Amino acid sequence: MIGLAAAAACAKAGRSVVVLEAGPEIARGITSRNSEVVHAGIYYPEGSAKTALCLAGRRALYAWCDAKRVPHRKLGKLIVATRPEEIPVVEGLQARAVANGVEGIELIGGAEVRRLEPAVLALAALHSRETGIVDAHAFCRSIQAEAESAGAFVLCDRRVVGLVPRSHGWRVEVEVGAGDGAAQASPASAPRPARPSPGGLREAIDAGCVVDAAGLAADAIAGLAGLDVDALGWRQHPCKGDYFALAPGARISLARLVYPVPQQAGLGIHATLDLAGRVRFGPDAEYVDALDHRVDPAKAEAFREAASRYLPSLAGAALVPDYAGIRPKLAGPGEGFRDFVIEEASAHGAPGFVACVGIESPGLTAALAIGDRVAALARP
Ligand SMILES: Cc1cc2nc3c(=O)[nH]c(=O)nc-3n(C[C@H](O)[C@H](O)[C@H](O)COP(=O)(O)OP(=O)(O)OC[C@H]3O[C@@H](n4cnc5c(N)ncnc54)[C@H](O)[C@@H]3O)c2cc1C
Repeated sequence: MIGLAAAAACAKAGRSVVVLEAGPEIARGITSRNSEVVHAGIYYPEGSAKTALCLAGRRALYAWCDAKRVPHRKLGKLIVATRPEEIPVVEGLQARAVANGVEGIELIGGAEVRRLEPAVLALAALHSRETGIVDAHAFCRSIQAEAESAGAFVLCDRRVVGLVPRSHGWRVEVEVGAGDGAAQASPASAPRPARPSPGGLREAIDAGCVVDAAGLAADAIAGLAGLDVDALGWRQHPCKGDYFALAPGARISLARLVYPVPQQAGLGIHATLDLAGRVRFGPDAEYVDALDHRVDPAKAEAFREAASRYLPSLAGAALVPDYAGIRPKLAGPGEGFRDFVIEEASAHGAPGFVACVGIESPGLTAALAIGDRVAALARP
């Protein structure tokens, strides 16, 4: 998503662009394993890149999806307080949302919650009208089409395995036909991306500028460019989020997304809807060493318990494992807020290298705005 958005913005600015994707097709990384929620911009600190890019990206995303007929729905969301001590948290989120300039925000009482969502039990809630859902894959395909029609080339099965500085830019060493998806994964404990497969074809591309939008491998690609990711604070900590779905036959009727108050490393086990109206629950947040996308069925009970605090009818229902995604977090366990890193690395001795590191949520919402920011940083 981020690489394609950057490619489209750079190509439209008249740059000559090649996207190198290690996988066999686009958007099979983090972009295919998330909640597909268009965030309003409520949660992040005032003045942060996450806030600015979420707001700008959301507005651009809705306009883009309207213009290009990408499936999406602005259905709104409730952040619910289910205990008295959570009411000040929701009020604090309202104050933050107002400070961030988020439109369509309203604090409502329990009766109004019940009127909007009869299945939801809450003492109060923050109602966000601008929140929505989008078909992430269709969104990506439309950005790819835009990039290609502006002259960019999108090449799959091309894994970047080396970056050699030149007098003006970089020689990008590429392994061809490596589309096993392994490059999507760069666990903190083994952060090198480039393990050429025996006999793999190699090619090299000379580029004035390299944009690192490698998702979970973004820190490792920065390492290839000679950057000391630990000294810079760019080491990513993979943090897994599992999702569960209702067991076949069970039904809960919701018109909006429903979130509890946020937790330490994530937004809490929320109830989201996809464009077909299916309800799913998650993600949780668990720091991991291995990039394993299997969902642990043993978590079903904890998910049911968490979500039944605001959806009481879930107490008698069964949940089944759905899918998982892994966040490239810059904040390690127990650490505070970390912002997106979107930076041209001249100051760190790597001119012409633009790093997009730590692009966790709201990266999908912010993608078009991140693309524009990258295009402004990518030197000719
Ligand atoms: C559980 C979860 C829920 C989320 N929910 C939301 C949400 O509801 N709303 C929202 O706005 N955001 C959400 N996000 C965040 C959003 O999904 C991400 O910010 C966004 O998808 C990141 O896109 P990306 O392009 O940076 O990463 P990716 O989609 O992972 O793309 C990186 C690409 O780089 C390729 N690559 C890696 N190494 C190499 C190499 N050496 N050579 C060539 N190619 C390489 C990979 O194959 C991959 O295709 C969520 C994230 C997670 C994990």
